[in-house]
Amino acid sequence: MSALKEKILRHIAADGPLTVAQYMTLALADPEHGYYMKRDPLGARGDFITAPEVSQIFGELIGLWFVQAWEDRGKPKRFYFAELGPGRATLMADMLRAARIRSDFIQAAQVILVEISPVLREAQRQTLHSLSTVPKWASDISDIPYDAPLFVVANEFLDALPIRQFVKSECDWRERMIAARDGKLIFALKPENASPELVPEPLRGAPQGSIFECTAAAEGLIAEIAKRVTKSRGVALFIDYGPAHSGLGETFQAVKAHKFTDLLDEPGEVDLTAHVDFEALTKVAKEQKAQVFGPVTQQAFLEALGIRLRAETLKHKADATTRAAIDAGVDRLIGAGQMGTLFKVMAIAAPGARPLPGFPC
Ligand code: SAH
Repeated sequence: MSALKEKILRHIAADGPLTVAQYMTLALADPEHGYYMKRDPLGARGDFITAPEVSQIFGELIGLWFVQAWEDRGKPKRFYFAELGPGRATLMADMLRAARIRSDFIQAAQVILVEISPVLREAQRQTLHSLSTVPKWASDISDIPYDAPLFVVANEFLDALPIRQFVKSECDWRERMIAARDGKLIFALKPENASPELVPEPLRGAPQGSIFECTAAAEGLIAEIAKRVTKSRGVALFIDYGPAHSGLGETFQAVKAHKFTDLLDEPGEVDLTAHVDFEALTKVAKEQKAQVFGPVTQQAFLEALGIRLRAETLKHKADATTRAAIDAGVDRLIGAGQMGTLFKVMAIAAPGARPLPGFPC
């Protein structure tokens, strides 16, 4: 049994069942045994692969997107260029390489990597060490000072934030909990009713057995970022998987070595995520008076930014094997059955902002 599972079983024996959010927080971020604390989970030999690891074009196009956004905001002489959950910093390295066409952008940017994993911080240091930009690290967005515009990017970060689950019982909603029986972790329902406001009004009358996932942590973070980019005249870009509209159904999932696996068997040894509810995030950003762009599909976004043209340019001088790899990468990023439609892109800016590239006017 994993050390973390033993710790969680002791926790439940002492204090009772955990919410799904408490379980996810421990499984991913327990300082001693959390999944992200002791490994680099990315790549073919890891547990999952992300868009920047698939093709350099992803980061290049997003780097140019930020250069355009910075120019449209009057080229501030100093700004914070923060990435949330940067993994191996492949996206940041590709963005900065493409952005070199504007040396004043590079000079103005203070790169901040918001990362909890010591292992990935070290990987980020290695990826970025040869660049002229000297990054800083932070554990939380609130550690970033308020004295310059805030520009934020996050790819596959929001899906790692803890969710709560609610299950429709006969006539009310109950929170789904994680309890213990015979040394095993099991799902259970909280005996008391959940407050109905936790479920969006149009979904409250759902049939018995329906599951609603509440992404409260992501919503809190988006509210904070929307407030900050609006005040500081910055911009934020989020790319993640999930639906454009709030709905019912379980998306909480565990992945190990590129395969789905059990949610409760091996906490700390498997990646846990849930789909991002872009409608809920749009709502909280608008409540902060921010302007929201999208969500659009990753396919539409990358096509509008010129992914096909960039691929042709890269293929021009490449050998046959490299050309095939470039095509495969592009297909993976924008193919409908791959990352192209499940992944969505959303941006947040101050009201009255000029249209942002990649989003319809
Ligand atoms: N954006 C990267 C990696 C995605 S994996 C890419 O696209 O390749 C999720 C990343 O978020 C990892 O770097 C992980 O360590 C980090 N992370 C997870 N929870 C976090 C939290 N609460 N605060 C900061 N970073 C976190």
